[in-house]
Amino acid sequence: MLIDAHVHLDKYADLLDQALREIDTQRIFTVATAMDLPSYLELQEIGKRSDLVLPTFGIHPRRAAEYANRLPELGRYIDMSPAIGEIGLDFHWVKDTATYPAQRKVLEYFIAAAGEQNKFVNLHTKAGEKEILDLLVEYNVRRAIIHWYSGPMDVLAAMIDFGCYFTIGVEVLYSDYIKEIAKTIPDHLLLTETDNPGALRWLKKNDEIAMPVTIKSVVKAVAELRQSTPERTENLVCANFSRMIKDDPWLSEIRNRLLAPNS
Ligand SMILES: [Zn+2]
Repeated sequence: MLIDAHVHLDKYADLLDQALREIDTQRIFTVATAMDLPSYLELQEIGKRSDLVLPTFGIHPRRAAEYANRLPELGRYIDMSPAIGEIGLDFHWVKDTATYPAQRKVLEYFIAAAGEQNKFVNLHTKAGEKEILDLLVEYNVRRAIIHWYSGPMDVLAAMIDFGCYFTIGVEVLYSDYIKEIAKTIPDHLLLTETDNPGALRWLKKNDEIAMPVTIKSVVKAVAELRQSTPERTENLVCANFSRMIKDDPWLSEIRNRLLAPNS
């Protein structure tokens, strides 16, 4: 089964029906990460429409400033979410340094909760890579998906040592640095993503809306870089995701779905 471990399904607007059909017909297990509270509430509704969609709650670093003083309000949504994300830090694309303390406060709140509740996290790490690794260590969050890693190679190595999983996404089609990262990640920590629907549009600076099937281009590119085949890469990534959630107390149902004979 194909794994798309980081997607913004609530951003599909008019194309949502088509995207969900594609997820079901192509059998793409989809981790649907939220940007903020309204986004999570919408994803919960979307999640009811497909067995292959897992909605998760997080506050994106871009939205952190709006939530830093409302954290107790978020507790019940964290409690009900089977995993945490998208959360993280962005000191690169977010230029307003006044938001950085809020980003840190929100991230630490979510990481602490993930540690306490034994949930996996889905992380955005732009220019905050080392700081994020330190928080994972401090709160003993052992199951982390580092989404679209593009940071320094030494922190990548430290994250690999800690056992973080890494999603390779559409930038592998265009960037030599990301290709290098895609070759560096050890077999057992490799995952795939699209960051749909906007990532390709953002990279190519056009108005293309990427559909779920984009994950196949990612798998093919990663397979070529790692001297593997798309089929073996797909199976490897599925095995990795299954291992990551193997003892997850919140995801036993999902596990059965991933391991189902026709998956
Ligand atoms: Zn994202």
